[in-house]
Amino acid sequence: LMQLSIPLNFIGFIYREIRQALTDIEQMFDLLGVKPEVTDGEGAHDLVVKEGTISFDNVHFAYDPERPILKGISFEVPAGKTVAIVGPSGAGKSTISRLLFRFYDIQSGSIRIDGKDIRDVTQESLRASIGMVPQDTVLFNDTILYNVRYGRMSATEEEVTRAAELAQIKDFILRLPDGFRTMVGERGLKLSGGEKQRVAIARTILKAPPILMLDEATSALDTQTEQEIQAALDLVSRDRTTLVIAHRLSTVIGADEIIVLKEGEIAERGRHADLLAAGGLYAQMWDRQREATEAEETLRRAREED
Ligand code: ADP
Ligand code: MG
Repeated sequence: LMQLSIPLNFIGFIYREIRQALTDIEQMFDLLGVKPEVTDGEGAHDLVVKEGTISFDNVHFAYDPERPILKGISFEVPAGKTVAIVGPSGAGKSTISRLLFRFYDIQSGSIRIDGKDIRDVTQESLRASIGMVPQDTVLFNDTILYNVRYGRMSATEEEVTRAAELAQIKDFILRLPDGFRTMVGERGLKLSGGEKQRVAIARTILKAPPILMLDEATSALDTQTEQEIQAALDLVSRDRTTLVIAHRLSTVIGADEIIVLKEGEIAERGRHADLLAAGGLYAQMWDRQREATEAEETLRRAREED
């Protein structure tokens, strides 16, 4: 029996390691929906982000040459500012985030960070400079501690706790049966979408990247959760260049610029109040979303009275 149990343990260990590696890769593929097809250029050097200004200049992109997705997109996210991208599903919003990570190369135009074309730097240094809070975070079958620490494996337990606190998830964790040692993921405790997103925020706080890329969840969160998440996001994005694919009203209101994308083109751009006054696509989207939020609130209040 002894003889058998050692190899089995060992197989278990290997299995866990492989599982973990697969989860990492799966997570990347799932969240970004892509296969890496690009390679570092000869003489590519490491990106050193000083200011953190992002610029897209006349970017044309297609996954399939027959079907253009982005048709000449230009915008800038000045260092430390927040730009929100909104627009109908299929407009090309997530594609913009994939291109910033250089999961694909563009057909023409340029994408620059602090004036450096992202094709001229190593992919590793590019991706290390950008923190991503995705729509749906995949949790590892491990402790909640490991899951938060994943943002920076060298972080001390104290730093992890502090990040969890800033991400408004610490109290929730401390109420779990084994606190930070609670197992989560598919084979552990399942977290709600809002809780997982706050884990992702805590990871990003630990990673402390100069550039932040958020892809907000489309599903309506309840008002309380939304406020908690927004407070956490405000904290991480403060003084950090932030590009956000926005669904929440609270994000767009505060953004330095809102870009309304439609069928791969910029249909409107400006600040919230200006776009509302213009009475175009953004104003329509805003009205529709506000009606939905109000309906939800009415429903919730009716339920509470029961
Ligand atoms: P959004 O995030 O605004 O909803 P996306 O950027 O995800 O839109 O997608 C824009 C368009 O590109 C859609 O029509 C989508 O079907 C298409 N698309 C997205 N990913 C791929 C892919 N990997 N291969 C081919 N087409 C894709
Ligand atoms: Mg999308």
